[in-house]
Amino acid sequence: MALIVQKFGGSSVADAARVMNVASIVTDTYRAGNDVVVVVSAQGDTTDDLIAKAEEINPKASRREMDMLLASGEQISIALLAMAIEKLGCPVCSLLGWQAGFSTNSTHGSARIKKVSAERIKMEIAKKNIVVVAGFQGLNKYDDITTLGRGGSDTSAVAIAAAMQADRCQIFTDVEGVYTADPRKVPNAKKLEDISYDEMLELATLGAQVLNNRSVEMAKKYNVQLEVLSSLVRKPGTIVKEVSSMEKMLVRGVTKDTNVARITIIGVQNDPGIAYKIFGKLAAKNINVDIILQSVGRDNTKDIVFTTTKAHAEECVEVLQGLDLLAGLKITCETDVAKVSVVGAGMESHPGVAAKMFEALFEADINIQMIATSEIKISVLIDAKDADKAVSAIHNAFIPVLN
Ligand code: ADP
Ligand code: ASP
Ligand code: MG
Repeated sequence: MALIVQKFGGSSVADAARVMNVASIVTDTYRAGNDVVVVVSAQGDTTDDLIAKAEEINPKASRREMDMLLASGEQISIALLAMAIEKLGCPVCSLLGWQAGFSTNSTHGSARIKKVSAERIKMEIAKKNIVVVAGFQGLNKYDDITTLGRGGSDTSAVAIAAAMQADRCQIFTDVEGVYTADPRKVPNAKKLEDISYDEMLELATLGAQVLNNRSVEMAKKYNVQLEVLSSLVRKPGTIVKEVSSMEKMLVRGVTKDTNVARITIIGVQNDPGIAYKIFGKLAAKNINVDIILQSVGRDNTKDIVFTTTKAHAEECVEVLQGLDLLAGLKITCETDVAKVSVVGAGMESHPGVAAKMFEALFEADINIQMIATSEIKISVLIDAKDADKAVSAIHNAFIPVLN
């Protein structure tokens, strides 16, 4: 007998038929003799719809009230799924995040899990109940409801699996696993049998939405073996684990991130300490920056270009405009950009991956604005309108290597 955590995303519980389908997967697992904890997201587009409702009333609503609203989506799902499980004749108990013991910090909208006490879950399991937990939510030290950020139910599932030392954590979704590119955009993308935590973390951080990056970070930290699989087709999915078995595979995935803005500062003084003062100020405001480029100093000045998220772009420009050392300089913000990346542990020991990627972009007539590399990834910043074409071109350039 094993303890299995199963998470179902919004599309997997989108309507009554899908909820019944999930109930049958869960009850089959339970009837096979396992203890089962289920984590669910809000149905279909519920979270987006709730955000739209809030915007109709107050586009500047406080993050606390947004959390109060958004957490309600998952409350609907757990109750409906529990009713479906009851209908199939199995004992079940649904729990909100706070009932399941999720304590978080107070960063409303992107709260971090501090602890999952899981006592209530354990009690319900001891009573032989299937436990259905609302993903994406917790409680802060003031007893206020918090949410973990978009896609946060994946992290809720991994956190329960880690806290309860579950034997398996299965993330059910609307595709059959992790692919070499988004299978909805790149039809010849290949399903991966397995992938390492580090590669999956890069892919998730660089835009592959199939797993939330924080969930992968947590799975790696607590050694939770994840499986990503379809809720619609009963087939093995992709295993995320310490070391992938396909070491020779050069590139594991190609992904795009359109949540990027590029900030340019022209004519900064060519003196020591300038970068420190600029980026120190942004860090103090909690503004994340990603790729940074600085031109070679000329005529006592240099240019600095960097990327941040679209959400931070406006604030970023305001902060820079308020800095005395940048007074009178031209600061521009470009949001029609996208970051396209290739990820693969194999590229560390293989020269030529960057050249091949750049050749594919050249052949597709796509201009590269910025380049960033690390041991297992290469990212380029390009025009947003070229992003899908770039992903396909790069993917197709590496596909023969994958076969
Ligand atoms: P859920 O609602 O189950 O959490 P998401 O919409 O968050 O599902 O994530 C699943 C989606 O991720 C897929 O429908 C697919 O379009 C997208 N996706 C992006 N990149 C990849 C990839 N490399 N492999 C698989 N799916 C991907
Ligand atoms: N319902 C939340 C969202 O849409 C959490 C999740 O789906 O993981 O982001
Ligand atoms: Mg998701």
